[in-house]
Amino acid sequence: MIPKETAQTIIETARIEDVVGEFVSLKRRGVNLIGLCPFHNEKTPSFNVNPAKNIFKCFGCGKGGDSVTFLMEHEHFTYPEALRYLAKKYGIPIQEEEQTPEMIQQMNEREGLFNVTEFAKNYFVDVLHHNDNGRSIGLSYFKERGFSPAIIEKFQLGYCLDEWDTFSKAAITKGYNADYLVKTGLSVRKDDNSLYDRFRGRVMFPIHNLSGRTIAFGGRTLITDKAKAAKYVNSPECDIYSKSKVLYGLYFSKSAIVQQDACLLVEGYTDVISLHQAGVENVVASSGTSLTTEQIKLISRYTKNIVMLYDGDAAGIKASFRGMDMILKEGLNVRIVLFPDGEDPDSFARSHRSEEVRKFIAEHAVDFIRFKTDILLKEANGDPIKKTALLKDIVSSIALIPDEIARSIYTTECSRILDFPESVLISEINKIFRANFKKQHNEPAENIDAITPETSAIPIEQPIDGNERISTVEREVIRILMNYHQAEIHDPEDANMEKINVAKRIIHEISKDELQFENPLYDLIFQNFSKSEQPIDDNYFLHHENEQIKQLAIDLMSFPHILSENWQEKGITIEKEQENNKLYELVSEALYAFQLCKLEKMIDGFREDLKTETDPDNLQILLAQLVRAECLRVQISNLLGRVVTK
Ligand SMILES: [Zn+2]
Repeated sequence: MIPKETAQTIIETARIEDVVGEFVSLKRRGVNLIGLCPFHNEKTPSFNVNPAKNIFKCFGCGKGGDSVTFLMEHEHFTYPEALRYLAKKYGIPIQEEEQTPEMIQQMNEREGLFNVTEFAKNYFVDVLHHNDNGRSIGLSYFKERGFSPAIIEKFQLGYCLDEWDTFSKAAITKGYNADYLVKTGLSVRKDDNSLYDRFRGRVMFPIHNLSGRTIAFGGRTLITDKAKAAKYVNSPECDIYSKSKVLYGLYFSKSAIVQQDACLLVEGYTDVISLHQAGVENVVASSGTSLTTEQIKLISRYTKNIVMLYDGDAAGIKASFRGMDMILKEGLNVRIVLFPDGEDPDSFARSHRSEEVRKFIAEHAVDFIRFKTDILLKEANGDPIKKTALLKDIVSSIALIPDEIARSIYTTECSRILDFPESVLISEINKIFRANFKKQHNEPAENIDAITPETSAIPIEQPIDGNERISTVEREVIRILMNYHQAEIHDPEDANMEKINVAKRIIHEISKDELQFENPLYDLIFQNFSKSEQPIDDNYFLHHENEQIKQLAIDLMSFPHILSENWQEKGITIEKEQENNKLYELVSEALYAFQLCKLEKMIDGFREDLKTETDPDNLQILLAQLVRAECLRVQISNLLGRVVTK
């Protein structure tokens, strides 16, 4: 258990921009930061981070919250997990009890799986450095490969002894759950229910999630006889590990990828590690699987530029073709570096100095058109039929690019390299593009947006019926209360008027006419304000225990009016709102609209009653009320009109 005070300290210390920034590349816009939302698929950013309020909000999918919410949503942490993560990040000590075997048993499954992989990682590291066989076999292998002690430590490399069940026994003795050992694939269960170690005699490469927790392993055999053992064995998928969604090394490279605005993509664990050791840190590998769309989307959160580093052999080239098309389809830029015959990124990085590696990549990265034509032209060897096939191949790659400008640049490039009329290429590309477009439109909606023009993240205003109008005006009053309740305003046209507190004015105006909020949530918040004797703190609603109130506060307080660039162009910004004159108008307008709405509803009621009322006295009263209400309505309409047209 984390003590409540500690939890509070953690939440207050955590900076939303730091926490989100680890996972999403953010750019400053005004007082806020924006980026591509990690919770839904989008190509123009609608994900906002507000450092002043310490919260985030996406205007595309609606997700919002504080640092803890973000981690729970993004990393699928539980509440305590999120707090622990933040405590670690900000160096806040948590007084926790030591875990006994009983406590370990009781932990929930996910946490249990994480605990088992964490234990295994530490165990394999310990064996590598402190066990005689670990040192003489595992450590000496890494040293032969030229890995420095620092890089071995950084990537938490380890060794699993070539003994039947040493690891499994050690884990069980420590109280770790046998089921979790089997689920994470670290142990294999035999028919007699006993466990043995999956990774026997292998050097171990832990695979991390974005927050640095170990979620799986790759194990490399040291036996050279390929018939006897697969070179690499990887953890099977489980609740905490889905291999198509993970990139090896991303945890260590994400900041370098953002800094350099490019991501190098390699094939193996050792490619990543050797490049890091050579000082090239913006690199990831799609280990354990061929490149997936999810992995490309993961990269696209950090950069739009991918450079594929592949072996120059035929298999490497074919793999790169497939990867290229997938990357193009996601709207990213792709370049390719082929290594000289017999070299791969790993060997090249080991046999060259950092500068040489960097220089080689920079000088040999070619765009996909140049790359594909060079290779295919060589294959065609002047044969016109083969050349036509080549042309079709390249044209179909270009047709995958969702961005029209990029598509046309590549078309021109292609026409130049192949010495082929551009107009013919354009008509061919358009044909394929239309066919793809049609095909995609028959598919589920989420696949379409690669091609359809980006729709605005802001819902288009629907015609408002009576109830929606009431809801809108009520919401506006609550929004102003939440954001500006502490502000002091005065009528800019009345120099003698004393300043009045926004909350006091709103509460007074609404209470004096005994007007009520129809929406129970708004009513609850209004009551909070009108009954509170002390000024209410902003954080009170943002971290409210009622989830509905908390979400509403995040919606209303995070980015009141910076919804889209469009709005900004109109000059409606939070800064403007806060100025006295604007704020005074805003409060007046909201109150008049609120009163008008309630009045109109009242008038409708009177009219309904008139239809059925038969008693002459009552009729008299009703009529008088109606006339009074109508007069008021006109007055308020005029006031509102004056404010609105100003
Ligand atoms: Zn979103």
